[in-house]
Amino acid sequence: MPFRDIVGHAPVLALVSRAIARGTLPPSLLLVGPDGVGKRTTAVAVAQALNCETPIRDVALPHGHRAEIDACGTCGACRRIARGEERLRAGEGAALDTFRVLAPDEKGSIKVDPVRDLVAAAGFRPLDGQRRVIVIDGAEALETGAQNALLKTLEEPPPGTVLLLIAARVDALLATVRSRCPELRFAPLAEREVAGLLAARCGLDPAEANAAAGVSGGSLTVALARRPGAVADAREIAHDVLAGLARGGPDDVRLDVASRLLVRAAPRTMAARGRGAAGKAGGRGAAAAAGGAGRKGAQADRQQVAARLDAMASLLRDLQVVGSGADRRWLANADLEASLTALRSAYDGPRIGRAFEAVDRARIALDRNVSPKAVAAWLAFNL
Ligand SMILES: [Zn+2]
Repeated sequence: MPFRDIVGHAPVLALVSRAIARGTLPPSLLLVGPDGVGKRTTAVAVAQALNCETPIRDVALPHGHRAEIDACGTCGACRRIARGEERLRAGEGAALDTFRVLAPDEKGSIKVDPVRDLVAAAGFRPLDGQRRVIVIDGAEALETGAQNALLKTLEEPPPGTVLLLIAARVDALLATVRSRCPELRFAPLAEREVAGLLAARCGLDPAEANAAAGVSGGSLTVALARRPGAVADAREIAHDVLAGLARGGPDDVRLDVASRLLVRAAPRTMAARGRGAAGKAGGRGAAAAAGGAGRKGAQADRQQVAARLDAMASLLRDLQVVGSGADRRWLANADLEASLTALRSAYDGPRIGRAFEAVDRARIALDRNVSPKAVAAWLAFNL
């Protein structure tokens, strides 16, 4: 996606574009800012602007900013990069010579070996006239050894190569890494920008888009996980998992039940709602719907699982209310009172305490980049 189509961050985009136009782009950059605001989308735009066969000069950006150079978005190079990014997001990991991405593994870390492989691959010059953009998305997950393995390359990337480190936080990065990379700060998006993206790219109606944007903290990823339909979906899935695990059962059954936490919700498009099929599991995920807006699927999945765990905590609180005989007006999910009452015998006093603790720990693990899959598997045996 070219710079001109990215929502927000006009001053940052203008700065990067100017540097590309004048050949002064630093060989390594640190893109810092909250998840779901467009950092990776910007990395794609950089790769396209560097490789575009028919770049456009002096393009208007919002708020009076200008991009000195921008990708056309339609030539072979632009389309190859866009397709490559789509495949990466879909987990098909095709490596392009012009655009490579390294992301955290299943356990949420980036170890030294994949970094060494990347550094070795970067040693080969890109094909004639091409520029290679290497993205490390989730750089805060780089283990110390992996960061050290990168230092040399950050200092002096191979000719024709630009390294973009993407991070939500920089406190996990070594001072030696930070000192080698100029930082580009990405602020949270304005609520109206999130609402606009939800309406334009995810088909939400204005009221729904505004409501979700209002609790998004400026992140499209969070907005997608918190939109009204998603909250209802999250609660339904949380309830199913609690009910499924209430019965106990063999390991494979428990794992199967807990894996429902990972099912991708379908985007709530106008068409889907028209058919009454909104928000059900399956098909292209919310992550895919958000793809054009710069979210990697993994992060969307993480937000989705987080929303389901929050719904689970809310249901556990209600199970306590039901069990204590307190006034039903305290129930957050009063419409589910009958099924909560049925579940209550399985989640008695001590077990509910353990379940609360398990959900809390799972939330913390998710925030620390442990993979949603590992979190779900752990919950299968601790709820
Ligand atoms: Zn192009």
